Amino acid sequence: MNMGKEEMLDVFGTFTEKNDFRLNPDAKHVDMILNGLMANEKKYGLKFCPCRLRDGTKETDLGLLCPCNFKAQDVWQKQQRCWCGLFVKR
Ligand code: SF4
Repeated sequence: MNMGKEEMLDVFGTFTEKNDFRLNPDAKHVDMILNGLMANEKKYGLKFCPCRLRDGTKETDLGLLCPCNFKAQDVWQKQQRCWCGLFVKR
């Protein structure tokens, strides 16, 4: 069964609890990303990142499941956020 927004917020809240990042304090932005995740889950069965493109290969697409490994990426080093801005540095 697909997750609703409240459930996703709970899961992401737990995910960020003991980390040096948190959900973006901009609730509208978070809502927009959650809508994208829900749309992808409805369409593809998995929560693919809403701001990056899948190429249909397992190798690439699995790297696009949310939450992804954004802390290992340049965007985190430079902007202190994940690509979509769902997670930001505390
Ligand atoms: S960039 Fe952010 S929203 Fe996209 S998959 Fe990674 S953690 Fe999720």
